[in-house]
Amino acid sequence: MKERTVAIVTGASRGLGQALAAALLEQGAHLIAIARSRSAELERIADLGRGSLQQIQADLSDPAEAERVAAQLADGLPKDAGRYLLINNAGMVDPVRQASDLDSANAISAAFSLNVTSVILLCSAFLKAVKPLDADARIVNISSGAGRSATPGWGVYCATKAALDHYTQVLNTENHGVRAVSLAPGVIDTGMQQAIRASDPQDFPNVQRFEQLHEQKQLAAPADVAARILRYVDEPDFGATVLDDIRNYA
Ligand code: NAP
Repeated sequence: MKERTVAIVTGASRGLGQALAAALLEQGAHLIAIARSRSAELERIADLGRGSLQQIQADLSDPAEAERVAAQLADGLPKDAGRYLLINNAGMVDPVRQASDLDSANAISAAFSLNVTSVILLCSAFLKAVKPLDADARIVNISSGAGRSATPGWGVYCATKAALDHYTQVLNTENHGVRAVSLAPGVIDTGMQQAIRASDPQDFPNVQRFEQLHEQKQLAAPADVAARILRYVDEPDFGATVLDDIRNYA
């Protein structure tokens, strides 16, 4: 039997995060799910007696709230598990604008706060919490191909995901005894893709490509991607490739 797992998943109320959280609950994990809204679906699964669930409602684009959640995790993580997993999945693609129209400091800051600052804070809390424990601990930061390939209209999104990739590489140069991967998940059928398809072509010239992917049913199902990510996380050589893409694996 597998050792008890404590898993933290951000952005667990919808999309890929909810699929990851649901699969972890089904595996019997103690799941800490973080998002602005609660997930009735995760409650339903936990009520069936599969895993145990703690939901934390927080806006991680607000650095003060992200700090509060990080402090809660640093102090309150259960200490009796054999495996600890942090999946920083919450993310936003907005503001979608060409560089000449990126003129709202609030919109830019919110994206950096959610996609980068909250990840750094939660990693810090996680590293502190697991350090005294004799346990296997792994971090997955959900990145994007956009962090590795320049895309017009996504100046902020690409910059945040590139920052996330580089931050994860730095974390791995340090001696924490925790392996971390920045993982691109592929194109997934979630609310984020709906929002991308609704972009104004003036802001996002590649919108047609995403409409085509949707029409041609090329978007992966969140549950399938979640299952592949969790198999990947279980691999003994997890962490060997710090910047990775789940599409490289069957
Ligand atoms: P999504 O459908 O938009 O869901 C985003 C999740 O993040 C939701 O649970 C949302 O919950 C949470 N979230 C958003 N803003 C938040 C905030 N301010 N504070 C706390 N939680 C917040 O996105 P997704 O497609 O599942 O994407 C998940 C991750 O995969 C993201 O990091 C994204 O960049 C990456 N990704 C996705 C694709 C794709 O094709 N979908 C491709 C490449 C990379 P609440 O609204 O309840 O807060």
